[in-house]
Amino acid sequence: MKIKELLHRINRRWVKLRLQPIRVFCFHQVSKEYEPLTMWKCDWTQTDVFIKNIISIQKRGVTFISLAEAHEKLKYDWFRHKKYAVLTADDGYKSILNILPWLKDQQIPITLFINTKYLDGKSWSAINEEQARRVKPDVDMLKDVCPNLYLSKEDLKRVVGMPNVTIGMHGHEHWDASKQAKEDFEKNVLQCRKELKAYTHTIPYFAYTWGRQTSETDKVLKEYKIIPVIISGGINYDNSNFIDRIAIDGKNESNI
Ligand SMILES: [Zn+2]
Repeated sequence: MKIKELLHRINRRWVKLRLQPIRVFCFHQVSKEYEPLTMWKCDWTQTDVFIKNIISIQKRGVTFISLAEAHEKLKYDWFRHKKYAVLTADDGYKSILNILPWLKDQQIPITLFINTKYLDGKSWSAINEEQARRVKPDVDMLKDVCPNLYLSKEDLKRVVGMPNVTIGMHGHEHWDASKQAKEDFEKNVLQCRKELKAYTHTIPYFAYTWGRQTSETDKVLKEYKIIPVIISGGINYDNSNFIDRIAIDGKNESNI
């Protein structure tokens, strides 16, 4: 083997080891049956499929770690040779309770990104109403939808007692940051941060709704030392402090 070829092979192996990615997955709703009043089909995964997918990922030698641990490894552990992944769930839907006990038994860490306004059990975002009215035009949101839609404050208090759960921000309301005035975005983030102080195991990460951000919104987060989290692409304006995620809702293992 020529020396040049040998060096090329060593270099390729070195780069592969040094740049082992950590995949951060994002999902929303998990239940045995699809419930059209409270779920978008594109946001939903059947419970058995979800479990099968997680086990399938683990069988490939992947260890699930917490978001904060992954962030540390991405920043400092450039020589990691093990495969790691992270689980996160957005919006704080009540259906997350269907999978949390299993994740706890498996000792799989998970971060829930919460919209604090909807914890009151009588609020919802426009997308919830759009979906519910599509199924039942005369739906009574308070009566038919709210009881099964989002985690309540009591639910969240119980959830943060689980050793594998951490809580991040998703905004007080589920608004599109890329369409908000800077001041409104700031207010929405800070209100969320303030209300989450009532809970333990909160972490300074903000998941953009629909993964939509701008350089201005990133600047706001940076000002408050909050780490931006997006979905499927996006721009790393700060060139370091940034978590990108892969959406896995409803997908079978071959899609991951
Ligand atoms: Zn969301």
